[in-house]
Amino acid sequence: MTRTTYLGFPRIGQRRELKRALETYWRNGYATSLLDTARELRQRHWQQAKTAGIDTVAVNDFSLYDHVLDTALLFDAVPERYRSLLRSDPLAGYFAMARGNRELHALEMTKWFDTNYHYLVPELHARQRFQLTHNKPLAEWMEAQALNLDARPVLLGPISFLRLSKTVDGSDALTLLDALLPAYVALLEELAQAGVPWVQLDEPCLVQDLDAATQHAYVTAYTALAIGPSPRRLLTTYFGSLGDNLSLVAGLPIDGLHVDLVRAPEQLDAVLSALPEHVVLSAGVIDGRNIWRSDPAQVRPLLAKIPARRHSDRFWLAPSCSLLHVPIDATHESALPSDLRNGLAFAQQKLEELRLYADALGGDINATHALDKQAMYCAERQRAPGVKRPDVRARMHALSSQATLRRSSLAHRLRVQANALALPPLPTTTIGSFPQTESLRRARADHRAGRIDDDAYEMVLREEIERVIRFQESIDLDVLVHGEPERNDMVEYFGEQLDGFAFTRHGWVQSYGSRCVKPPIIWGDVARPKPMTVRWSRYAQSLTHKPVKGMLTGPVTVLQWSFVRDDLSREEVCLQLALALRDEVHDLEAAGIRVIQIDEPALREGLPMRRTEHAAYLDWAVRCFRITAGGTSDTTQIHTHMCYSEFNDIIEAVAALDADVISIESSRSRMELLQAFEAFSYPGSIGPGVYDIHSPRVPSHEEMVNLLERALAVLDPGQLWVNPDCGLKTRGWAETEPALVAMVGAAKAVRRTL
Ligand code: GLN
Ligand code: ZN
Repeated sequence: MTRTTYLGFPRIGQRRELKRALETYWRNGYATSLLDTARELRQRHWQQAKTAGIDTVAVNDFSLYDHVLDTALLFDAVPERYRSLLRSDPLAGYFAMARGNRELHALEMTKWFDTNYHYLVPELHARQRFQLTHNKPLAEWMEAQALNLDARPVLLGPISFLRLSKTVDGSDALTLLDALLPAYVALLEELAQAGVPWVQLDEPCLVQDLDAATQHAYVTAYTALAIGPSPRRLLTTYFGSLGDNLSLVAGLPIDGLHVDLVRAPEQLDAVLSALPEHVVLSAGVIDGRNIWRSDPAQVRPLLAKIPARRHSDRFWLAPSCSLLHVPIDATHESALPSDLRNGLAFAQQKLEELRLYADALGGDINATHALDKQAMYCAERQRAPGVKRPDVRARMHALSSQATLRRSSLAHRLRVQANALALPPLPTTTIGSFPQTESLRRARADHRAGRIDDDAYEMVLREEIERVIRFQESIDLDVLVHGEPERNDMVEYFGEQLDGFAFTRHGWVQSYGSRCVKPPIIWGDVARPKPMTVRWSRYAQSLTHKPVKGMLTGPVTVLQWSFVRDDLSREEVCLQLALALRDEVHDLEAAGIRVIQIDEPALREGLPMRRTEHAAYLDWAVRCFRITAGGTSDTTQIHTHMCYSEFNDIIEAVAALDADVISIESSRSRMELLQAFEAFSYPGSIGPGVYDIHSPRVPSHEEMVNLLERALAVLDPGQLWVNPDCGLKTRGWAETEPALVAMVGAAKAVRRTL
């Protein structure tokens, strides 16, 4: 009988119980109820998996904050600054590492591969020591054992752990492998002694390009882990294809291998022929990164390739990766139209699907029928209204290569715009949003709940826009914004007004710690029934003679932060978004808006796992941005904004966007990234953020003057803009006012020196 399993379950809880419990603990410091909630969630999720028909549940996939942080703690890889607190109050120490406290700054946080999950980056140094501390994996395994569950502890594998860490002294983390391995060996030994039959070692780095040293490190590590007493080892890979690392992996002394057959179905043949007979193959056939029911027409041919003699005991079925990246249960989405809802599979439904496939493989006729029905549903879905719209398809196909073009060259446009906009050197602006005050949030909630009507809500927004405009005028900013008070979220706001989108009630996914996002679902062809932002921008512009910047979220970012339909390529969906947004750009222009910003903070995070695929992605991503901005007149100034990442390695693509002005987050990296712009002699104007909006600290005049001077050391004065490094929506007015006043003052001071 084919066994079913999974690599990890969402932690946050159907009603975000973990979020609530964490926030309560952070307020009152009362640990018991947090730990109770955590245990309740773990056990509930195991039972849910079991009810769905899963044979082996994952343990130690749960974390109070983050599993990479847990791994660092497990092996005592703790920076000195946290140690005394960790000793006196382990939980407080743990959260100090995760989020900092009054005295201690937190570990750095960064994106987990190409997902929207953020992990904490362990801080190591050349003389780092490791030792096994409190054995959380074992403790959670015993917890499951007590409930009579067949369970497998999940561990982050040693090589991925080191590769995901950073060193504070510039040394190579991989050289720590010899120091780290004994701690892993000790862990496996304790697990084996307790009778743990299998352990899972996650090595997602195996789907990336690896240099010879890393490949060699894999051999060293997995050979060492095989020597002493150990549970059987399932090595898991996901988010892509093993590619050229397959022969390396097939030669490792492991007992099982998990491969992602959703992102990389084509690797199955090669995996089957490379993998030794005795090694269990865990086939990731259900998409762990998306929320759609699987199409049996795609899964069944994969399963048909598995030789019968493997079926019985060396073949498992699993989702492609941990289910951390999807919400828990789609049956709660009763507000969605039933035909759409029937097409959704969250974590729970995915596990049920696995059972069906496994049972059907075993000859169960009911399971086979259920899958036949699902295949029929998937085929019918293609004909449902809105899924394939002739008007949208016709427009996509008729698109000419001209659509990506502006009328004249960047140099010419910048000259024309300088005249038309009559801005001073070092123009000042902001990134778009102003503080989302308590009263704005309350008004939005009241409006949603029907406690205030459309007119009353409209009044609140208009008043806010007027206040924001008057404030910006009063401090003498050059390019104003309306402040985005009408927006809940930069993607949701547009999704709600576009055809082809749906929104869940409870579809929460953990972004980091207690923070969750509820990504929109793109289920159909995307089209814009009517203008989305024009009346707000027009109103704001009517209040002032200074240029007001129109504000849009770019197509790549909307795509990246949504659950995207799986029956059309991401490139095509992005193109549909680009065309819808292009119409908005033209409508803004027609309404007299002279500066339009198209935000693309997520451009970089869409980069595929393999370098060989980067060019193709950047090519269509850039094309979609250019289509959005294309066709505008030379005097219309197109801005873009990016944050959350390094752009050094994609600087050519950023330039290829052909935006007139780009604003970027850079105050934390102290303008280092400007060097990339200089080295490349970036042709457009640049607004490197001069202060960090993620902190309530008000930056001083001198600090910002200093940053601007540094920027001028590498940029032409005619190129430089002055702005904060991101939107101000999470800030309060108390710090926003003095910060912007100081920023404008700094710009003026530096202008005088030119
Ligand atoms: N215009 C958006 C804002 O100011 C940009 C947000 C972002 O870059 N994440 O809020
Ligand atoms: Zn930003």
